[in-house]
Amino acid sequence: MSVKFKNVSKRFTDGTLALDNLEVEFSKGEFVIFLGPSGSGKTTACRCLAGLEDITAGKIFVDGKDITPLPPREREMSMVFQNYALYSHKTVYENIAYPLRIRKYPKDEIDFLVKNVANLLQIQDYLGRKPRQLSGGQAQRVAVARALVWQPSICLMDEPLSNLDAILRLQTRTELKRLHDELKCTFVFVTHDQEEAMTLGTRIIVLNQGKLIQFDTPRKIYSEPATRFVAEFIGRPAMNTIEGKISNGRFRAKELDLPVSGRSDGKVVLGIRPEHIVLQRESQSDFIPFTLDVVELVQPDTLLFAKKGQSDPISVVVRIMEDCSDLRPRDTIYLKFPQQALHFFDLGTGERLS
Ligand code: ADP
Ligand code: MG
Repeated sequence: MSVKFKNVSKRFTDGTLALDNLEVEFSKGEFVIFLGPSGSGKTTACRCLAGLEDITAGKIFVDGKDITPLPPREREMSMVFQNYALYSHKTVYENIAYPLRIRKYPKDEIDFLVKNVANLLQIQDYLGRKPRQLSGGQAQRVAVARALVWQPSICLMDEPLSNLDAILRLQTRTELKRLHDELKCTFVFVTHDQEEAMTLGTRIIVLNQGKLIQFDTPRKIYSEPATRFVAEFIGRPAMNTIEGKISNGRFRAKELDLPVSGRSDGKVVLGIRPEHIVLQRESQSDFIPFTLDVVELVQPDTLLFAKKGQSDPISVVVRIMEDCSDLRPRDTIYLKFPQQALHFFDLGTGERLS
C-alpha cells in the first residue's frame, strides 16, 4: 500500500517549474510532511496529488494504480487548506456532515460519524453553533473534522495551523498527532516550519526549488542532513557552517584550525550543531579560544554567539543547558568541536561527504 510520485514535473503556463522530476514513495498510514521554504513547490505537490492541478510530466500511483488521469472526486482524498472556508450559514454539525450528505450516507450513520469525529477533535459541545460563533482554533478543528469524517484514505493538509496563535498551534499539533494514531489514515501535511515537521512527521520530504532534497525520518534528517541546505534548514538555531579546507588531517578556515582525522583533502563546508559544541571557561587541550559576542537567554538554554579573529572573524553559535549568567560579552571562552559531531559538505555542490 503506497503513494508514489514517479518523475513528476509541474510547469505552470507562465513557465514556472514548480515541481522538477519529483520521485518519492511513501506508505499508507504514514504522517508524511512536505517541508521547504516558501515557493519550493509544497502546495503544488499536494494539489497534484489531490488532482487539483494537472501534472506536466510523470505519473502518480496509489496502491500501484495510476491515478494521474482521475478527477479529484475519484481519488478518495480530502484536503484542508490554510484558508479553509466553512459554510457560514450552516451549523458546525452540518458543516461536518456535508461530505457525508453529498455521498448519500444514511442519516443515522451520518449522526454516528459526525459525533465520533467531533469527540476526537473535542468540538462536541459546539455542534449547534454557526462558524462565526467559534474561535479560530475551534473553526480550524471543524475544518479538520469535515475533512476526516468520511474516512478518506488520504488527508492532505496545506499549512493548516498557520493561522493559529502560538499556543493553539502547539495544542492542535498534539491533537493532530493523536488523531493520526487513532484513525490510521494517511496524512500528507505541508509546512514551512521545520519544528512542526520534525515533531509531526513519520517521514519528511524536504523540497527546495521544486526538487526533492531529502526524504527521511526526522531523526535521520537531523543527524545526517543530505545537503548543506537541509543542515541549515533543520534545527534552531541553525547548524553552524564554516567554509574552509582540509589538508593533512586538519581543517583550516581563517584563524580556525581543527584536527579532522580520516578525511580526504579538499575544500569543504564544516558543519556543527550549536548544541554539540562543548564549552569551558578555562584553557584546556583540544579547546579553542573564542571571544564571546552576545549572550542570549532562551530559557532553559543559553545561546552564546562567539567569534574568532579580528577583521573577518569566524562566527559560531553555541547552545548550552548550564547556567551562563557569569559570562559577559568580550569574555574569552574555550570551545571544543568534537570530531563525532562534525558534518562535512562539498563546498561546490553542498552534498554531504560521507
Ligand atoms: P510553496 O507551497 O512551497 O510555497 P507553491 O507550490 O505554492 O510553493 O509554488 C511553487 C512555485 O510555483 C512558486 O514559484 C510559485 O510562485 C509558483 N506557482 C504556484 N502557483 C502558480 C500558478 N498558478 N501559476 C504560476 N506559478 C505558480
Ligand atoms: Mg504553499
